Amino acid sequence: MISEIVPEISKIGWRFDNSYARLPKMMMTRLEPVPVQIPKLVILNHELSKELGLDFSALNDEHVALMFAGNLLPQGSESIAQAYAGHQFGHFTMLGDGRAIVIGEHLTPDNKRVDIQFKGSGRTPYSREGDGRAALGPMLREYIISEAMHKLGISTTRSLAVVKTGEYVMREKSLPGAVLTRVAASHIRVGTFQYVAMSGDVKILRELVNYSINRHYPNLQDTKNPALALLKVVMEKQAELIVNWMRVGFIHGVMNTDNMTISGETIDYGPCAFMDTYNPETVFSSIDYQGRYAYINQSIIAQWNLFRFAETLLPLIHDKKNIAIKLAEEIINSFSEIYKKRWLEMMRKKIGLFREENEDETLITTLLSWMQKNKTDYTNTFCSLIKKDLLKDKLFEGTTFLNWYKQWQTRITKNKKPLESSLNLMRNTNPLIIPRNHKVEEVLHAASNKGDLMPMYNLLEVLQKPYEERSEIIAYQYPPTPSEQVYQTFCGT
Ligand code: AMP
Ligand code: MG
Repeated sequence: MISEIVPEISKIGWRFDNSYARLPKMMMTRLEPVPVQIPKLVILNHELSKELGLDFSALNDEHVALMFAGNLLPQGSESIAQAYAGHQFGHFTMLGDGRAIVIGEHLTPDNKRVDIQFKGSGRTPYSREGDGRAALGPMLREYIISEAMHKLGISTTRSLAVVKTGEYVMREKSLPGAVLTRVAASHIRVGTFQYVAMSGDVKILRELVNYSINRHYPNLQDTKNPALALLKVVMEKQAELIVNWMRVGFIHGVMNTDNMTISGETIDYGPCAFMDTYNPETVFSSIDYQGRYAYINQSIIAQWNLFRFAETLLPLIHDKKNIAIKLAEEIINSFSEIYKKRWLEMMRKKIGLFREENEDETLITTLLSWMQKNKTDYTNTFCSLIKKDLLKDKLFEGTTFLNWYKQWQTRITKNKKPLESSLNLMRNTNPLIIPRNHKVEEVLHAASNKGDLMPMYNLLEVLQKPYEERSEIIAYQYPPTPSEQVYQTFCGT
């Protein structure tokens, strides 16, 4: 028993209750992380530890590292690799946790249930040709961006820790290996449903629907048609999520169906990045040759993924397939309208508008077209609109902008609220700081290649309060210079 080897491990406060592990066997493989050679703690998220009711202070760094590497499993953990499938860039594939292990579900002090997952924890039956491992850079990247997303107020998985493994992983070159501890409401994905639906076992599918409802949407427990209700709520959650991504200029980069959660959390930070210059066609991922997952396509892809989700649920929606299809289509077809409505609501907030007026959409799209034409910075342009001396800035001199500005001012008078309310709305909607890609790359380079973690700690610190004007953030607000510009991001698998 582990706690006999390191008694302090029992003082951390883990409260495991592993409900997923009790689901049918075909949905997972029970196995433990493959131990690593010389685990070393790189970063531990103290704030998140506290939220989770975990206290690592009784353990020395070595033991903390052993635990987050998966070499020492806490008592109560039942580790599993989950099976799932997914449409990757439109093509259906059988997948599964090829380099991740859920060590269990932890109950927080307020009884919230979260998955604790190690990513980069060694080979599993789902690894295919992969080595089951992860490199330090991409794991720190997930840590930085997921935590930034959380602080931006966007639903996301969290990052609790990163440890170096003391081993090297072979990618284009040899890189230091690492394990990330990911905390998620669950790891149930559209791909999980695709996997179960593929098996043709409707009983297990029903069990998965009920499980998902109990875990994420308990208020739907007594509904007449659970599958249909689940479809609807997931559709709404995804609409909300994508609108939030659009708000801050986030581009996920790999919106495959295995990377879309049922909980509505953003998951799997691979080649994701934040847009600097406003261009709706922006793509960063080196493997997204056709721009399938470009900034502007994200809502269309979300809807495409939801259709795939709906397909898995058909046998449970209605006995008659044609009726099931009709009912599911009605829901997924409403996505565009719901998304559009929420997107407009969000954009209104970005420019400080209360109420709804007919001219709002044109006002918003005119601004966006101007931004695109003038290649302005997405984040900074909205922040500039909050400033009193906006028109003194050379960028806003042209007549196209001035015309827009006048219309905007007229529209603001229709708010029938003090100007300060409008400014506050804008301040709370438009982040002053995002994890700009060139900054992320800079700190990852220092961490991975030079072993210097200070730049990363500094970046994480400024990302803590993205809506607050503070002198520390200024150096991080500038868009990249041409030489700093990062055009491509890599999955780093
Ligand atoms: P992702 O693109 O990160 O969503 O991963 C897609 C699939 O590839 C998932 O099933 C992963 O578990 C698997 N995978 C990614 N990298 C590796 C790796 N290094 N070894 C084994 N499986 C991997
Ligand atoms: Mg994935």
